[in-house]
Amino acid sequence: MPSNSQAIVKKSLSKPSRSLVLAVFAPVAALVALPAFSSISTDSHYQRVATRETLVTAYCPCKICCGGEANGITSTGRNAFRFTGVAADPTAIPYGNFVRIPGVGFRKVDDTGGAMRQSWRKNRVYHLDLRFRSHEVARKWGRKWMKVDVYEPLF
Ligand SMILES: [Zn+2]
Repeated sequence: MPSNSQAIVKKSLSKPSRSLVLAVFAPVAALVALPAFSSISTDSHYQRVATRETLVTAYCPCKICCGGEANGITSTGRNAFRFTGVAADPTAIPYGNFVRIPGVGFRKVDDTGGAMRQSWRKNRVYHLDLRFRSHEVARKWGRKWMKVDVYEPLF
């Protein structure tokens, strides 16, 4: 691994193109890509930094949930249909952190929304919006207060 790999990884993380990362730095890309799947433990490359009582609501990428301008791309440039993830106020829980939601597993913070920002900025309430592919599943989730673990990347 070249000595400047750290800087390259950081640069790559901010780009939406995963295929480029995979092509150039396959071993590093594996670390970045794997935790997107809820069954993978993030213990070795992420550290738990907090456990917080959190309001967890749910959404899907549709225009009902995300407004008429919704294009299926999250605020961090991810395909909302392809990737699991959660929306948060990034000033409360930064983009790229993972959360572990009881009964759900690990999800990456990759999106935001007005309700999450309002909860945090007005009421100092940690609020996550959990993304599902199905509008019906999201509706059925409702609103739950849960103890959520927050994980930061180690690099
Ligand atoms: Zn929806």
